[in-house]
Amino acid sequence: MSTDAPASFRHQPHPTPVAAAERAERLIDPGFGQVFTDHMAMVDFTDEAGWHDARIVARAPLTMDPASSVLHYAQEIFEGLKAYRLADGGTALFRPQANATRFRNSARRMAMAELPEELFVGSIEALVRADAAWIPESEGGALYLRPFMIASEVFLGVKPSARYTYMAIASSVGAYWKGGARAISIWVSREHTRAAPGGTGAAKCGGNYAASLLAQSEAIRQGCDQVVFLDAAERRWVEELGGMNVFFVFADGTLRTPPLTGTILPGITRDSLLTIARAQGLRVEEVPYSIDQWRSDAESGVLTEAFACGTAAVVTAIGRVADGDAGFAIGSGGIGQITRALHDSLVSIQRGTAPDRQGWLHRID
Ligand SMILES: *Cc1c(COP(=O)(O)O)cnc(C)c1O
Repeated sequence: MSTDAPASFRHQPHPTPVAAAERAERLIDPGFGQVFTDHMAMVDFTDEAGWHDARIVARAPLTMDPASSVLHYAQEIFEGLKAYRLADGGTALFRPQANATRFRNSARRMAMAELPEELFVGSIEALVRADAAWIPESEGGALYLRPFMIASEVFLGVKPSARYTYMAIASSVGAYWKGGARAISIWVSREHTRAAPGGTGAAKCGGNYAASLLAQSEAIRQGCDQVVFLDAAERRWVEELGGMNVFFVFADGTLRTPPLTGTILPGITRDSLLTIARAQGLRVEEVPYSIDQWRSDAESGVLTEAFACGTAAVVTAIGRVADGDAGFAIGSGGIGQITRALHDSLVSIQRGTAPDRQGWLHRID
């Protein structure tokens, strides 16, 4: 297959898929990232043959050589997107083209082969078609797609791999927050940073997560739900959570989020919310915000709400910020009005109950 061939995936159905009754059982309360479907998508790359052998096969453990370069030098990138059951019974992906573009950008930063966008979107379409029965019907449920790519050359020399394996797996997920949405508490990481200027902060690579986990465990130990990172250069500007972008809402109705300067992951939820907010006539700014200003604005009432956003949890209110021995509450500590309205606007588009003015839904059937 040449790199610009149409995305056609050979389908080799699972010989023994999970039985319907067992699947229904697993879909009752799937949680997040624990229930997996019957199939997976795979495409191989070698320097000689380019991208080839696009296929949907039975989901199964991988066999790999212990000298595969991903295991040593962490050339790995991933994506996350959801397939939704629409109000009219159809199925749609939300902005998969944006994930495909970001995946290429991540690959470029990690010196990996760039997967053509039509192969990325084609792999997701083919996988969702094969495993459509795994989309939960429950409110807030979705099929979470996890495309990823690893360096698969067997070689211990330090250089970009000459072989890559692209895969996509799917996981049935329930509403992210069990028992309904609630405001989370976040811990300000003063010791550890997530991404430095010139580094990989804007690439969706596993390495960024590896670097964030110690700070995340510190947040948990401090009784918080999530960690928020400051910039690495000045340790002053609020950047993002370990896996979610952050927004601030002011009493005058202004919405602010940190600008994309290369250390922040360009979230598709972030971009969608900026677009929705602008269309609703909110004043929107992509401007740096310091941790000290955040505290003082929260205490004075100039800032009324804050929230985190990303594909998995969509929009999550921040109710409390803990910073060393001190901390401050955001608004009433619950879910703010504008946070809730933006959440509802986005979810309505994703579920097909509000007009899709931007053409964000990518229907599969
Ligand atoms: C994936 C991710 C986000 C959110 O991106 P979405 O496209 O909205 O899901 C934010 N921050 C980090 C570090 C991420 O990896």
